[in-house]
Order: sequence, then C-alpha cells, then structure tokens
Amino acid sequence: MSVDPRGRRLLPVLPHGSGHLAPPQPFPQRARAAVADPQLRANIRRATRTIRDKRAAAVSEVDDWEQLREAGRTIKRRVARHLPELLERFEQAAIAAGATVHWARDAVEANRIVTDLVRATGSDEVVKVKSMVTQEIELNDALQRAGITAYETDLAELIVQLDEGEQSHILVPAIHYNRAEIREIFRREMPDAPADLTDEPAVLAEAARRHLRRKFLSTKVAISGANFAVADTGSLVVLESEGNGRMCLTLPETLISVVGIEKLVPSFADLEVFLQLLPRSSTAERMNPYTSVWTGSTPGDGPSDVHVVLLDNGRSATLADTVGRQALACIRCSACLNVCPVYERTGGIAYGSVYPGPIGAIISPQLTGVAANKSLPYASSLCGACYEVCPVKIDIPEVLVHLRQSGVDGARDRPSAERTAMRTLSWVMSDQRRYENALRAARISTGPIASVTGRGRRRRPGGPAGSLAHLPWPLSAWTTSRDAPLPARQSFRDWWRGQASGPGRPTPDAAGAARPQADPGIDRDPGAARPGPGAAPPDSGAARPDPGAAPPDSGAARPDPGAAPPDSGAARPDPGAARPDSGAARPDSGAARPKEGGDE
Ligand code: SF4
Repeated sequence: MSVDPRGRRLLPVLPHGSGHLAPPQPFPQRARAAVADPQLRANIRRATRTIRDKRAAAVSEVDDWEQLREAGRTIKRRVARHLPELLERFEQAAIAAGATVHWARDAVEANRIVTDLVRATGSDEVVKVKSMVTQEIELNDALQRAGITAYETDLAELIVQLDEGEQSHILVPAIHYNRAEIREIFRREMPDAPADLTDEPAVLAEAARRHLRRKFLSTKVAISGANFAVADTGSLVVLESEGNGRMCLTLPETLISVVGIEKLVPSFADLEVFLQLLPRSSTAERMNPYTSVWTGSTPGDGPSDVHVVLLDNGRSATLADTVGRQALACIRCSACLNVCPVYERTGGIAYGSVYPGPIGAIISPQLTGVAANKSLPYASSLCGACYEVCPVKIDIPEVLVHLRQSGVDGARDRPSAERTAMRTLSWVMSDQRRYENALRAARISTGPIASVTGRGRRRRPGGPAGSLAHLPWPLSAWTTSRDAPLPARQSFRDWWRGQASGPGRPTPDAAGAARPQADPGIDRDPGAARPGPGAAPPDSGAARPDPGAAPPDSGAARPDPGAAPPDSGAARPDPGAARPDSGAARPDSGAARPKEGGDE
C-alpha cells in the first residue's frame, strides 16, 4: 500500500473504465442540436408518454409494489457489500457447471478476450442478444477490426445497426425512429426485405424475423450479456420479449456472455423479486415473455462451449464511492428515462453514452471518472421523478448532486480566474483594515464613473440604484446578465463612527431598530442623509405617518376599534390554522421521499 508525504497510508486508486461512456462534446452542445429537431422530439415524446402510462397502470395493479422496491434495494445493497465473496462464489459454481470464467479489468481486456475466443472457433461472424455491456465496451467495433461481423438480433438494435446510427434508449434503442423511417432503412439496407414492405409494425417485424432466422441457423457463435448472475448456482439469466435471445442462447455451439460484475444476486430465490420488478417497470408487462436461465453447459442441450467474461470497467471505482455506488443497483429497466423531462426533450443520443437519461447521468461519469465526463451530472432538473419510479429506489437526484460536487472539488486545485478572484477577495475580507482600505480604493477609483453616469442613471430598468449596466471586458461577463453595483459613498462603518463620535450616541439597538437602512451613503448625499442624533431619519416624515394625525382616508378605512371588522373572521384566519400547507402540502418534506431503510 502506498503512503502520502506525511506517511499516511493511501487506499489504492481504482482504475476507471472506457468505451462508449462519455460524449465527445459536452451535453449542452449535443442537447442543443437534439432539441432543434422537431421530428426527433415528437417521436420521443410520443413513445415515452405511451410507455410511461402503461408502466403506471401495470405497477398500480401490485398492492405490495413499495415492499417489492424495498426488497430489491435491500438485495442490491447486500450485493454491493459482499461483492468480492459473491463473485468468487459465482466463479466456482459456474466452473463446476462446465463454464469457463474470464476476468476483464476494462473494455480493452474484455474485447481482447472475446475476440480471441471467437477466433479460436474459426468463425468470422457472431449473433448477438441485446446487451448494454457489449455496447458499453464497443465490442462490435473491436470484432470488426478483427474481421468478425456481429449481427444484432434484437429488432430495435437491428434497426440501429442497419442505419449505422446510435442508440437512444436502454430498452428501445430505436425509439427515435418512426415507422416510415424504419421501412426506409429496411428497404435500403436489408437485401432480403420484401418488395411490397409497408410500415405496418407486424409487416416490419416479420421482415426482420425472416432476415434473422437465416443468421440464427447458420452462425456458430453467440454473444450475450446477462440481466442477472446467480452466485449460488453460477447461473446466468436473460430477459427479453422477442424470442431472439432464446434462439441465440440455445442454437449456436459457442456462447460467450459478457457480464458486468454488479449483475450478481446472491441466490436463486432473490430472482423472485427482480422478475416481478423488471417486466412491469420496463415493458409494462405482468410477466416477462422470454426468461432464459442457463448454468454452464449440458451435453446435448444448448451450446457446448460456454464462457463468462466478468467485466469491471470502472465498477470497482464506483463501488468505492459510498454515495455513488447505488447506481450499480440499476437493473436497466429504463423507467427513469421515460419520466425524465430532460430526456423527453433531448432523446438519448445527446448523452453520448450507451446509458442515456437519468441513470446514464450518474453511471457514465462514475465509470469513466467525473473529470472525463463533467457535463452529464448537469443533464437533469433534479425534479426527482426518476427516483419515484425506480424499482430499486436509486436516489438519482442525490447522486447527481454528489457528482456535481465531486466535479467542482476535483477542479478546485487547478488555476482559474474565478478561483483567483475568490481567493483574493477572501484574503481582503478576512482583515478589517484590508477590507476598509479596499473599499476606500474602490470608492475613489469609481468616483469619476459615478460622476459621469450620474450615479445609477445607467442602471437597467428595475435594477438597483447606484449600479452600472455595462463594464468593459473581462468584467463584461458579469454585466451581461446583471448590474454591477458601485461602492457606496459612505460605508456603514464610517457612518457608525460618525455617530459614535457625536453627541447623543445611539445604542446599537436603537440604531438597528430605528434605522433599518444600514448604509445611508447609498444613493444619498451623506451630508443631507445623515440624521442628527436624536432626530428622526430624513425619510421618516414621508414614510411614517404621524401617529397623532389621522391618515387622509382614516374615516373610510379605519374601522371602529370597538367593533369587529366585518370580514375579520374570513380575512384573518387563525394564525395557528392559517398555514394548512405547512406540513402536509410539501411533498418533498419527507413523506414523499421515504427515508432509506437500514442496510441489512
Ligand atoms: S436507475 Fe432505476 S429506473 Fe433507471 S434504469 Fe436503473 S433501475 Fe430502472
């Protein structure tokens, strides 16, 4: 273990991951291009609203949904705490069942392992089940560089692959295409597409099915991910709804599964919780249509050569962050995407990561390190809708704020004009004499400006008195959207000293209570504005009515003191009951965001 210059032991720095995880340009830049495309926005709005409504209906059917969510979170927390032991247990069980287990530190290692395994079979093509993790490590590109063609068999992934486009949703990668666009892609890129292809969903699906069936029957190697990996038995589990996964997992001779190390669950019984949570949260189905479970290899049944590649790629570094690690609990249901107001307007491509939306905004920067992915934690309004729907109760807003803080902290030691200015200000303001001298200097140096501009005449409409609307560069960065206040002609301290040295020195209480304007120098001539000791403040005649004199409209406005005001009962509610919203009507106060349960 390494030590710092003072001899303190340092924890090892865990490596971050690489792959399709960080946008080449900052998120705001990519988002601007996305929101300028009305067709894209319309496609995504329609799709997300449909899925969102269906999910809400499916979830409302389950009486103990909240208990299921809590159970899901608890299991995932247990996995995070015991990950090393669970991984070893999984490895032993999988090997005992006939699988070969590989360990990959990062995307490069995983791609090399998979490429070598495919080459060893002599095949130059593979079929793939939809797998986020192979997209994360950009496996298709690595295989292509090695002369191996990968065929995506999930319909949505096939569409994106044929169009050489980018995925924009975890569950529905082609969510940004409409039916007419998909028909054009099939006509253009699918040689065996029928000549009379229409944009009817059933017709498009049938064309894809026939196209893919030929691949399933002829390809010797399949590559998959896994939704869950069971530590006790060494089993892998894939949930899908088209049947393509079942074909991939059973027909080829060799099966290679790339699995993120966070996908573990301790026992088979734990699947009970997730097999209820995931279908309703993702596709709004009561039960998943195709759930495939396999454990090693079985002679005469399915692939004879089974490999499992356990991938880290920044997950250990994420696990080391006690706040951010909850992102590893994600079961990739995509419910958070469908309710996110930012995602609905930008779509997923703007995120520049295989994981878009709220979960992408917290998982991608953690896998790569926040320094390499600074803009994504800001791709959120922090409305909290993602937390409300997450089936494993990941507090995404909490992690977003934490990552923003980490980004700021990480940049703290690097020089910047703003930091230099703040440090200088801190130094000046930490000493009274320095502060007063600086104020005097500022007053003297801005005196000519104040006299030329007439002190406040150039202020913005509605802006504060004694301010400038425009300053020269670089200070213009401030006045682009704000006024720059001129220093007061007399500081409060100077005024106070003047009071203290004169007769009838006011007590601090009296001064504070009687003269709420702390600095009478602002916008006033000090000579005229300074009240004499014991005298009423200069504006008192106008601002304060003479207590002895009746106000001009007193006859009409002032009710008989003895009589109750006619509307007193209605207009002046009981102060105790007057704020009915004080506890109940603030949904974020604690009731709407349940506190985290204790760790097991
Ligand atoms: S963060 Fe939660 S809601 Fe979002 S994809 Fe993951 S499990 Fe689903």
